[in-house]
Amino acid sequence: MCENPLRALPKMDVLLSHPILLSARERIPYTLVRQAARDKLEEVRRAALAGAGVPPLEALAGEIAAAAQTMSRPGLKRVINATGVVLHTNLGRAPLAPRAAEAVMAVAEGYSNLEYDLDNACRGSRHSHVEALLCSLTGAEAAMAVNNNAAAVFLMLSALAAGKGVAVSRGELVEIGGAFRVPEIMAASGAVLREVGTTNKTRLSDYERAVLSGEAQALLKVHTSNYQIVGFTEDTPLSQLSGLAAAHDLPLLCDLGSCVLTAESLPSLPAAPSAAAALADGADVVCFSGDKLLGGPQAGIVLGKKRYIDAMKRHPLARVVRIDKLSLAALEATLLLLRAPESAREALPLLSMLGARPEELRARAEGLAAGLRKALGEDYTVSVLPCTGQVGGGSMPNEELPGFCAAVTAGPGVPEGLETAFRRHAVPILCRIHHGALLLDVRTLSAEDEGEILRAAEAVRGRNR
Ligand SMILES: *Cc1c(COP(=O)(O)O)cnc(C)c1O
Repeated sequence: MCENPLRALPKMDVLLSHPILLSARERIPYTLVRQAARDKLEEVRRAALAGAGVPPLEALAGEIAAAAQTMSRPGLKRVINATGVVLHTNLGRAPLAPRAAEAVMAVAEGYSNLEYDLDNACRGSRHSHVEALLCSLTGAEAAMAVNNNAAAVFLMLSALAAGKGVAVSRGELVEIGGAFRVPEIMAASGAVLREVGTTNKTRLSDYERAVLSGEAQALLKVHTSNYQIVGFTEDTPLSQLSGLAAAHDLPLLCDLGSCVLTAESLPSLPAAPSAAAALADGADVVCFSGDKLLGGPQAGIVLGKKRYIDAMKRHPLARVVRIDKLSLAALEATLLLLRAPESAREALPLLSMLGARPEELRARAEGLAAGLRKALGEDYTVSVLPCTGQVGGGSMPNEELPGFCAAVTAGPGVPEGLETAFRRHAVPILCRIHHGALLLDVRTLSAEDEGEILRAAEAVRGRNR
């Protein structure tokens, strides 16, 4: 006779009163322990029906306690970026300056004057906290900040171009990060796309034709931040478009995507687009991300002529895409740091990472390699290799950032096993595998990160014993 395989399955109440789970319940909410126990029992039941044995009660209780522990911790957590990609979109783009993080804390835990005018004891505007700063930094007449740059583009088109024809070069109909496509965002905003020119060449005369024929009542320039067209190309700069826009009193709009406020913020990357330059070249409204080359929180920043920015502030969508107080606090603190470009290069992690000199990176890679040799032990070979970092975040894809990494080139589980061990560390460490070696690019590491990497390496050595 064949025995019912589910017989061996423990009862829920027996399981939950196992000493391991009784002790877990002191640390972890009961609902989570019960949920983990249900999930585990279901998993074991299915396996038993498929012919597997039922694990002993003790082992089940241990696994349930571990699962409940994981469920009780936040899933979103700090990780260590050893990839050398500075603005890594999957890893949260720009790390905040400590000052910006403090500013977030200061408004997060209590009340703030978010929309309250302390001088006049009346309702204030959330834009006021960054508008004057943005204007003085870039020379803009007016400014506002919204949730992110995708929202800024959407609001700009909805408020200034809905129902109008908008001329865009065929070379600028970009897709950014999957879901953001210029033609689609335009359609959603009610603006009518008028493609001008060709993929590789768009001249002023192409825009002129669209304006003179009455097809276009606004001009949009999109910075092609994540790709480049090379070879026989021609692009019409803002400085040429501004004359056309002014002559016909049409708004010249510009989605800069990833840019610095002024060239002084980031002298190590002279090719980085600058918001101040776009305004000086005659753009009426420019928008860009707060967490790309600006080095701040997720935000969409809009600068430009007062009449256009006012129309955007008044549009009903402004409320839909408004920036939250935590991001606003981080943005204001970041802008305050950017007022002093020299010290900002030290104070903003993004700027120090992008501006790090190769010799400085080599010395740091040597320090990390020495630490890793000691922590991993004699079974591993660690060396220092030159490597290339990237700006990332769809910004400046052709810009190579020469640097150095600590490379684990040989040893047990190198590279995949060691990569997995690092990735599963309490603070996950993400690195690159290249030609069979595990590379840790020091450009994107803080001193604290390096300490954590050494702790992970010691744990690997302990497990190998
Ligand atoms: C990144 C980018 C966007 C989207 O910005 P988010 O901050 O991701 O919302 C829009 N346009 C361009 C040109 C970009 O580079």
